[in-house]
Amino acid sequence: MTGRVRVDRDRCCGSGNCVVTAPEVFDQDDEEGLVLLRFTAPAPETLALVRRAADLCPAGAITVE
Ligand code: SF4
Repeated sequence: MTGRVRVDRDRCCGSGNCVVTAPEVFDQDDEEGLVLLRFTAPAPETLALVRRAADLCPAGAITVE
């Protein structure tokens, strides 16, 4: 497991759960509200929150490798 994060903007429905859960890593664009990834390789201490965000994403748009 590398801790590398990916998002699939085609699946994202803009619910914003990820931004609430891990604002250091996720953002939403101003136009459509779709997920933006601030870091593809977040700090190890942030990874637990990123995994939680992936679990909570209703669209299954977040993966952690
Ligand atoms: S939680 Fe999932 S669906 Fe919601 S904004 Fe984040 S990536 Fe998109």
